[in-house]
Amino acid sequence: MTDLPSSLSAAGWAAPGAGAMLEIDLGAIAANYRLLNARTGQATCAAVVKADAYGLGAHRVGPVLERAGAKVFFVAHLEEGMRLRPHVSATAAIFVLHGPMPGTEAEFTRHALLPVLNSMEQIAGWCGHAAQMGRPLPAALQVDTGMSRFGLSDADVAVLAARPALLDGIGTQLVMSHLACADTPASPANAMQRDRLHAMAARLPAAPLALAASSGIFLGVDYHFNLVRPGAALYGLAPNADGPNPLHPTVRLRARIVQKRTIGAGDGVGYGLTWRAPGPRRIATLGIGYADGFLRQGANNGGCAWLDAYRLPILGRISMDSTTVDVSAVPESVLDQATHVDMIGPRRSVDDVAHSAGTIGYEVLTALGARFHRAYLTQAA
Ligand SMILES: *Cc1c(COP(=O)(O)O)cnc(C)c1O
Repeated sequence: MTDLPSSLSAAGWAAPGAGAMLEIDLGAIAANYRLLNARTGQATCAAVVKADAYGLGAHRVGPVLERAGAKVFFVAHLEEGMRLRPHVSATAAIFVLHGPMPGTEAEFTRHALLPVLNSMEQIAGWCGHAAQMGRPLPAALQVDTGMSRFGLSDADVAVLAARPALLDGIGTQLVMSHLACADTPASPANAMQRDRLHAMAARLPAAPLALAASSGIFLGVDYHFNLVRPGAALYGLAPNADGPNPLHPTVRLRARIVQKRTIGAGDGVGYGLTWRAPGPRRIATLGIGYADGFLRQGANNGGCAWLDAYRLPILGRISMDSTTVDVSAVPESVLDQATHVDMIGPRRSVDDVAHSAGTIGYEVLTALGARFHRAYLTQAA
């Protein structure tokens, strides 16, 4: 791993032994946090750093977000929370979205982690732990407003409203839910979930409310409640498919050119020889493949790399360790000097790669593996 000042981005190749280099722009992540925080006014802007900060490294991203102003973090699993804890200050709140699995409650208090309680079983487990500790313990309550994934049902909330003692020992810090269709602003599910959160929260102990993740922030102020939970937008992904993306890109992925060759009309490329040259072509083999998390489907639908302003279509199938591109459009003088190309960069976003692979930017980012050389750009933006 290397730290580079931002000014060196796109300059020299810092990783002679690696097939590809992933540059992670910490300043851009901080700038995205500030942009989202400014957009959500009075609401607290938390930061979601589950899945190792969407693959970008929670141990680096967490402290940067904290310096940018984040005081509340969310991870999915207890172990993710334990790994994050030493990298943010003791006063930072870390919520664990999946809550305590039975028997893990003491780990939460030991590591100063806050559970999101999703079910009556998790509530009972946390109350039991609070009784053992002899003090009320803070937690968030999640309610299911329509996604049918996590959270208390209407029936559960009715039971809790009738028997408030079931929540004895819980210091309710937050009542939260999650939107199923936030990236589709026209979906009627959004307003329905918003209204259900109001109704369900009214039957629970008074606490700050939270509904919006990245896309939900862009649905407008009546989705912000008291706290918002962006993840993807911090890392530069577009909050919805239409319109310009207001967020800064945070990653650049460059692959080494391992070999160049000229092929003739009818020659095939890659496994299965699925692409055949219609005429003479200059091609280049790159040191990046699906084992690096560069999804095999990414060769489809206009899949390409870029060398400066030259577009390089991906030819045939992506292999485990390599990808072949057409460099015929690149002048020989430029190609001679070239050592690497952009797979993700100024001309090709994570969302573009996702479009080619028939998936979403979230999957592309979180799939990017550990085999790349990683360089963190540390200049605060
Ligand atoms: C992953 C997740 C988020 C963050 O979602 P983004 O779309 O990445 O902003 C927020 N809340 C919950 C409950 C999540 O699971």
